Amino acid sequence: MNLILLGAPGAGKGTQAERLVAERGLVQLSTGDMLRAAVAAGTEIGRRAEAIMNSGELVSDEIVVGIISDRIDQPDCEKGFILDGFPRNTAQAEALDKMLAEKGKQLDLVIEVRVDEKILFDRIRTRAAEAGDGAVRADDNEETLRKRLDVYHEQTAPLLPYYQAQGKVRSVDGMQPIETVGAEIKEILDRL
Ligand code: AMP
Repeated sequence: MNLILLGAPGAGKGTQAERLVAERGLVQLSTGDMLRAAVAAGTEIGRRAEAIMNSGELVSDEIVVGIISDRIDQPDCEKGFILDGFPRNTAQAEALDKMLAEKGKQLDLVIEVRVDEKILFDRIRTRAAEAGDGAVRADDNEETLRKRLDVYHEQTAPLLPYYQAQGKVRSVDGMQPIETVGAEIKEILDRL
């Protein structure tokens, strides 16, 4: 089973992806995590991505499409994967459709995790303020968060109609407790 988790930054996609890894043995493919690992390792990609990530903008399609394509080719992805944070715009979604077709794979479902962004923003702002200079993520500050939300609306939200046209979108209310969101996702997948 190959899935996409779609939702605004902070919607809990990563948390739900981790649950699916534990429950279903799927592999979590988070482009954000992969890019942060590249930054930490000081690779060429990491050097190219770091400043862009800290600004809240998207790194180039070419970089993320390449990373995902290579990763999907690894044997552990044969059991199925969850894309978390990819695709982020229509060009990436089209590249994904093309690459999956070439690899003889398909996308089964897109799970939209819906959130109230006002509440979300306050929550993340509090977290960033509490963390201060020791913020866990360099992009966890108010200014960058605002930018990331803008980028989500402008570039990522149009993926909903893109995948709705393919009949693949199911939505869950991400403002509920983590367990409840997880249970709803489980129900959707069990019905598949
Ligand atoms: P995330 O952890 O998914 O919120 O990603 C953190 C940052 O990494 C984003 O704000 C972007 O700068 C970059 N990034 C992650 N995934 C992508 C993607 N699919 N396309 C472009 N940039 C990405």
